[in-house]
Amino acid sequence: MSKKLSPETLCVQAGWQPKKGEPRVLPIYQSTTFKYDTSEQMARLFDLEDAGYFYTRLQNPTNDAVAAKIAALEGGVAAMLTSSGQAANFYAIFNICQAGDHFVCSSAIYGGTFNLFGVTMKKLGIEVTFVSPDAPEEEISAAFRPHTKLLFGETISNPSLEVLDIEKFARIAHHHGVPLIVDNTFPTPINCRPFEWGADIVVHSTTKYMDGHATAVGGCIVDSGHFDWESYPDKFPGLCTPDESYHGLTYTKAFGKLAYITKATAQLMRDLGSIPSPQNAFLLNIGLETLHLRMPQHCRNAQKVAEYLSGHTKVAWVNYCGLPGNPYYELARKYMPDGSCGVISFGLQGGREESIRFMDSLELIAIVTHVADARTCVLHPASHTHRQLTDEQLLEAGVRPDLIRLSVGIENADDLIADIEQALKQ
Ligand code: PLP
Repeated sequence: MSKKLSPETLCVQAGWQPKKGEPRVLPIYQSTTFKYDTSEQMARLFDLEDAGYFYTRLQNPTNDAVAAKIAALEGGVAAMLTSSGQAANFYAIFNICQAGDHFVCSSAIYGGTFNLFGVTMKKLGIEVTFVSPDAPEEEISAAFRPHTKLLFGETISNPSLEVLDIEKFARIAHHHGVPLIVDNTFPTPINCRPFEWGADIVVHSTTKYMDGHATAVGGCIVDSGHFDWESYPDKFPGLCTPDESYHGLTYTKAFGKLAYITKATAQLMRDLGSIPSPQNAFLLNIGLETLHLRMPQHCRNAQKVAEYLSGHTKVAWVNYCGLPGNPYYELARKYMPDGSCGVISFGLQGGREESIRFMDSLELIAIVTHVADARTCVLHPASHTHRQLTDEQLLEAGVRPDLIRLSVGIENADDLIADIEQALKQ
């Protein structure tokens, strides 16, 4: 069909297009390996001379169909699934950085990513400089060094809920001849498609809204195909010079716009693993089929709950970019005019003790270490994910001691508000 398909249709139909007599529903290819008739056929696959499946650590048809659906939703040329969002972020960086390299990153990112970049990648000899995403362009530019290979940010940061000025970040990255990588987990491509604003690579924790039912941990990397690696061959030798582990093949020459994802698959997956099981990819696909229906309901509910909370006398503050007066309201309207996500943070009058009492009094809303699934849930970072930190250390990490993170699900908003109201009374 020549018409460009809309996100709703892509959610349901992209990725798996069965031929005559094949299953209508994406099958789970629960097989580690694939059969060939001649030794020569297999050898050509190992040399990347033919495309085809031979071992699931490198590629699997179920995983590939789901990756293709996410690529279509983001408007990219290719994608690769990983076993977690953490793995996606690691691979996205490690595909173009090696020991001695450096990258620049927004300081408003998920704590697990912050640790991966600031601690673990440092042990591998890759250094990061964190910058405030709201800093002026000159200040962010000043963090770049000769060996800087990329700029990284989160569309909506977890848990601080800051909205990234994607166009500003893309301008800075491209001025320095490097790609912009954006973690688009919270808005999903239903609410924001960073490639349309200049981002080059998008990463996801599919564990969140994409799966949407809290059943399968997973991640994904999508390439827009826009970044011209060959304009900077000295910066990106891994893509632009021969790979001896594939008989001197050069990814950009052999694969063009597919070079980045092909290298991530053929080199990083081959050497490091971290593939999702086909069963988990199947579950992710079921989630994706309703992503376009769930996201608007998450946003409608979150808006209603945020408005209720901001009018309550026991609530000290509310952070949700859908509220007029929020510092990110205008940026959210620009990049996510149809809604942002279902995650809200807020604090109660009285602080840490009140927060704990409030959460323990909730009946419908559960305390869980998760965000962004169908069931509304709540977490108090000071008591849970960041419990080893003092109040002073929490503030340094950008987490207020009284911060409650509420992930609003797709239930009825009035039922959620009634639960919050009875808990606030206590
Ligand atoms: N990126 C963001 C924005 C996240 O919120 C998370 C997890 O919460 C991750 C990445 C890591 O994903 P995963 O838990 O799937 O490894």
